[in-house]
Amino acid sequence: LTSSPKSQGLYVVHIAAEMAPVAKVGGLGDVVTGLGKALQKRGHLVEIILPKYDCMQYDGIGNLRALDVVLESYFDGKLYKNEVWVGTIEGLPVYFIEPHHPGKFFWRGQFYGEHDDFKRFSFFSRAALELLLQAGKKPDIIHCHDWQTAFVAPLYWDIYAPKGLNSARICFTCHNFEYQGSAPASELASCGLDVQQLNRPDRMQDNSAHDRINPIKGAVVFSNIVTTVSPTYAQEVRTSEGGKGLHSTLNFHAKKFIGILNGIDTDVWNPATDTLLEVQYNANDLQGKAENKIATRQHLGLSTADARQPLVGCITRLVPQKGVHLIRHAIYRTLELGGQFLLLGSSPVAHIQREFEGIANHFQNHEHIRLVLKYDESLAHSIYAASDMFIIPSIFEPCGLTQMIAMRYGSIPIARKTGGLNDSVFDVDDDTIPLQFRNGYTFLNPDEQGVNSALERAFNHYRNDPESWQQLVQRDMDIDFSWESSASQYEELYSKSVARARAAASRS
Ligand code: ADP
Repeated sequence: LTSSPKSQGLYVVHIAAEMAPVAKVGGLGDVVTGLGKALQKRGHLVEIILPKYDCMQYDGIGNLRALDVVLESYFDGKLYKNEVWVGTIEGLPVYFIEPHHPGKFFWRGQFYGEHDDFKRFSFFSRAALELLLQAGKKPDIIHCHDWQTAFVAPLYWDIYAPKGLNSARICFTCHNFEYQGSAPASELASCGLDVQQLNRPDRMQDNSAHDRINPIKGAVVFSNIVTTVSPTYAQEVRTSEGGKGLHSTLNFHAKKFIGILNGIDTDVWNPATDTLLEVQYNANDLQGKAENKIATRQHLGLSTADARQPLVGCITRLVPQKGVHLIRHAIYRTLELGGQFLLLGSSPVAHIQREFEGIANHFQNHEHIRLVLKYDESLAHSIYAASDMFIIPSIFEPCGLTQMIAMRYGSIPIARKTGGLNDSVFDVDDDTIPLQFRNGYTFLNPDEQGVNSALERAFNHYRNDPESWQQLVQRDMDIDFSWESSASQYEELYSKSVARARAAASRS
């Protein structure tokens, strides 16, 4: 196995199920790459371990090659061989694990949504730790993410630290408490964990079903640092309404639990250099934004007759969390208000996908409304650049990246005050907030009146005071949403945890 070069800074290994841009489903993929790059830039050694999916975008991986080793890892009472590949993604060194298990765990043509996800990812979590052990790596921090790699925390302390992989502190980030991966307790045994020891209320037992174990709960209990992706969401999940059953666990472990707002990758999301755009532009040259608006409207068959007609964008997974009924309402309300609406989204939920296909067909040749129901990275860039406003009416939103990307492209966010939206979008009309921080329109109640009031205020501002609207656009484009500030908070958490461990070790 390849050895890791010595570095002055910390040695951080992320074990994750996603990494942008090659294996991305949602925000988690962006975080692994964005945080990884920012920490690497600050002088830390960062490595990533991913499953080797058949459906990755292989052209985004540099210098991919199989290592001349066989990694054997335990599952269901047997040892299975794994092939280990290495490559680079966006300058970060990545290991890919390819299990030679008859279940063909990562040859499914999709990242998630398989009947045996629990098996696939508990297998991967164990194989990733086995890789670190056999390679003799001594990371300072092992950072795991979401339920798919939450198993890393109990596996590390119960099995791998006793085997000698004991240099690390464990950091766990939950990107969305909606997905907890709970399963019948007996399934935990496959990866070698002791079900009797762990299926207990203070360990991995699900808080509402006593014959089930909950990987997220396990990671909260067994990690040294637990984070989520915004300060407001960290508070919300500690309440019985927002905690999805885990509020009591999070309150019990509150001392190690903190919310850190994600950044965005400002190299990828930069209208001044974005080659996916018709024309590049910046805050001091908004002519380019206007040209993108014309190009995208033409490309999608919308009327370009009125250059000043407000264009509202929305790019999202169409799932209940995102307020799909409010998105639908916003489409009709925008039309009534004389605007145009562009939706780019797709849904893993069949009835929602069908419902939006119905709306898309209804507006098929409409000159002011277009729904594009697929995942399309390139079109997403065009819509951020073309739109004047961007709507995010989420019911809950752990962090949300689209509001930050929209602002960077000069599209003013209209967002519900929840989670990370509440930490990044500040209402233009809110006198309690210093003027220089106000950057969009917000509403509190997740209902049609809420959407209407924010949308109408935005339309009035856009139409009645173009000069002040332009200043708002320029101000939003200049906000620093890079990973710098979040990475420095993670760096501090990591360093403190490592220092505490070293102090404890030197005392004993
Ligand atoms: P979540 O992780 O809950 O899906 P985030 O706001 O954190 O939401 O991240 C969404 C990311 O996925 C953004 O980068 C957004 O541009 C992108 N995205 C969502 N839907 C689509 C789509 N249909 N086509 C292209 N990009 C999309």
